[in-house]
Amino acid sequence: MKNRTLLMIPGPIEFEPAVLAAMGAPTTSHVAADFIEAFGQSLERMRRVFMSENGQPFILAGSGTLAMDSVGANLVEPGDRVLVICTGYFGDRYAALLKRYGAQVDQVTAPVGGRPSLEDIEKALKQQKYKIVFVTHVDTSTGVIADVPGTATLAAQYGALSVVDGVCSIAGEELNMSAWGVDVALTASQKAIGVPPGLALFVVNPRAMQAFKGRKAPITNYYADWANWLPVMQAYEARQAGYFGTPAVNLVWALNVSLGQILEEGINARVERHRVLSNACKAAAAALRLNQVAIKPEWAANTMTALRYPPGITGAEFLPRVAKAGAYLAGGLHPDIKNEYFRIGHMGATKIGDVLATVGAIEFALIQCDYRFESGSGVSAASKAIFRT
Ligand SMILES: *Cc1c(COP(=O)(O)O)cnc(C)c1O
Repeated sequence: MKNRTLLMIPGPIEFEPAVLAAMGAPTTSHVAADFIEAFGQSLERMRRVFMSENGQPFILAGSGTLAMDSVGANLVEPGDRVLVICTGYFGDRYAALLKRYGAQVDQVTAPVGGRPSLEDIEKALKQQKYKIVFVTHVDTSTGVIADVPGTATLAAQYGALSVVDGVCSIAGEELNMSAWGVDVALTASQKAIGVPPGLALFVVNPRAMQAFKGRKAPITNYYADWANWLPVMQAYEARQAGYFGTPAVNLVWALNVSLGQILEEGINARVERHRVLSNACKAAAAALRLNQVAIKPEWAANTMTALRYPPGITGAEFLPRVAKAGAYLAGGLHPDIKNEYFRIGHMGATKIGDVLATVGAIEFALIQCDYRFESGSGVSAASKAIFRT
């Protein structure tokens, strides 16, 4: 595999060999006894990874967008007022999605790279009664991490449900659904969960399930209707077969392996590892005078880093050179600054050596772009940050 280039983007990420091996095994029946066991075990493991004591996990074939969509379809009734806390593109997108289901959507926003303060959020909650507050844990378009425990606490205080888009955070950033009072948390397989793209994963805690069961308006999405999937999830967890749509059998086999690895590493140790990798990457950026999109260091996520190009350097000249030196990075996503920054993912199976190699590749590309800096200073800062932590 010597021609291999590191895939250091905020999803899909690189996957553990055991996960890929599970994916490549011959496909079983979705009602085979061993598959029922793997599916049931995955549901139980999801509850532990999401730190939900008594929530209902769902595993659907689809991407993270389906997870977002299904929450909208099942919790929003026409005319419901909902509040979306925005820290980038994915928050704006959630607002657009919720309108499709007839929600009246208000947004609390911040300048690009910023995040609304809890005061801003509370002000909105005081002015208007909302049924649901949506928050993106890590907005992948800016690398900004939201204050999820603070937001969930406020939502509960003002009688609203809280929904966390954790696609770029779950299994990489700290999340404790039960302790924080988060009502729904959702993710996709291909980010910190560590499984190739194709699974929408979410856990619905009891308050949100009650809201779903008590809804009056019919659900206008057929595939995503929880009433169709709930009996299937309950059956598999009771180690029986269920059917509504064929599960993504190979992906579920892989998911069970990855969730097993995550729990074996330990959630706390895993979050700490992400913090160390992130600190290294951010220390390198600072040494190379590359500014983060996140306005304050404490607003920057641990699963990824979003960095502005130095003046005069464009993505078109920079990114292919980084790739040639060994690491694929992602370009910009936020429409307001799309061409002004790039993104590095460092989640899941990422190792210290991967981060050092990536920083080295970035330095190599910067030299080729005639950027003036002390060569080696980024790698040195990254490695010092690792030894400090
Ligand atoms: C990637 C991502 C999504 C969308 O997930 P897909 O699997 O691409 O549909 C949603 N929200 C956040 C925060 C993401 O990072």
